[in-house]
Amino acid sequence: MPPTPTHVAVLGGGALGVSTATQLAERGVAVTLVTDGPLASGASGRSLSWLNSWAPRRPDYHRLRMIGIDRYRTLAAVLPDAPWLRFDGGLFWGDDAERIAAQQRKVGYEVRPAGAVPGVVVPTGAYVNPGEGWVDLPSLIRHLVERLHVAGGRVTADAGPARPVVDGGRVAGVRLGDGSVFAADAVVVATGAAVPDVLADFGVTVTAQDSPAALVRTRPVETSLRVVVNAPRVSLRPTPDGRLVVGAGWVDDQLGHGSPDDGVIRELLAEASAVLEGHPALVAEEITAGPRPMPVDDEPVLGRTGVDGLYVAFTHSGATLGLIVGELVSEEIVSGTPHPLLDRFRAERFARDQGRSPRDHRGW
Ligand SMILES: Cc1cc2nc3c(=O)[nH]c(=O)nc-3n(C[C@H](O)[C@H](O)[C@H](O)COP(=O)(O)OP(=O)(O)OC[C@H]3O[C@@H](n4cnc5c(N)ncnc54)[C@H](O)[C@@H]3O)c2cc1C
Repeated sequence: MPPTPTHVAVLGGGALGVSTATQLAERGVAVTLVTDGPLASGASGRSLSWLNSWAPRRPDYHRLRMIGIDRYRTLAAVLPDAPWLRFDGGLFWGDDAERIAAQQRKVGYEVRPAGAVPGVVVPTGAYVNPGEGWVDLPSLIRHLVERLHVAGGRVTADAGPARPVVDGGRVAGVRLGDGSVFAADAVVVATGAAVPDVLADFGVTVTAQDSPAALVRTRPVETSLRVVVNAPRVSLRPTPDGRLVVGAGWVDDQLGHGSPDDGVIRELLAEASAVLEGHPALVAEEITAGPRPMPVDDEPVLGRTGVDGLYVAFTHSGATLGLIVGELVSEEIVSGTPHPLLDRFRAERFARDQGRSPRDHRGW
């Protein structure tokens, strides 16, 4: 069994990197978190972050997501008043709602026909998932960074693009954007959409699909909405500060590499208003768009990579999995043995099967 690393560097200041760094520090490991810009500047700063295992998945992946939700429930019990982590359920409807509800029942995912739901005009045929919730990832990241500091970890933000340094087939340190190098005996690559590019330098293949996504944050709005709504043409949830975040698959489908135009935003906000009681006027305050970390086969890429001391955390369900990925990857590093819950999610699957075609990812 390899010895526990004495100094671990984690690359990427999003939910997965910060969670992993915090878990390592809380296990007594010296940790440096390095991120190229400010914390939460990637997908974690512009996420719907619905906590769910809503869509049909392979059993291992469904189980991982359910454990992921469990860790948030534990955190919510410790921080019952945190306005940024809520378990008020999810609500969905649409042509395939009945089929999805039937699949959910089969795997024990709680689902019921919806009655009245505060703040929402609920159509016939809608369902609630009472066990779902949402998290505001920038708030979670602030919370975790406080814990990281308490546990003695360090954060180097605005470091420019960093790269692992591998010497003689094993990790030796990290090179920062300015060319300076510091020593580390393990590196976790949690650089979001940049993961495939960073790992390619070391012969580790991770195949991603191009998946731009946009999210609109509204100005403050009077609404009693608490649940996460997934309607056929819009997804939305409240924020900790009285706003809404709103997105939709049809908006993402027509995104290039810029932001949606004004007409699209107006249409999206009209869809959101239509599902809210009283149909409040919604005004966009902030529009964000960019790549979503998206493995080609829709499944997470986690843990050991095959290069000694080099680990990965890459998934498009990084809100739901944010806490559990940090926990399991740090367990694997500290124990020096592969974690069985990660075995189905290794990077090596891409080297075995280069021809994977993109899999649909409705439901995050
Ligand atoms: C619109 C949208 C909606 C979503 N909805 C959901 C949802 O409902 N439920 C869910 O579970 N997930 C959802 N997701 C996905 C989830 O938000 C992401 O999976 C998660 O935020 C990814 O976190 P991360 O830490 O892997 O990456 P990121 O948050 O992207 O963080 C990676 C960080 O690494 C930095 N970085 C990049 N390259 C380097 C480098 N070379 N050196 C140092 N730093 C570097 C980046 O600047 C960035 O800050 C959604 C995402 C989007 C965009």
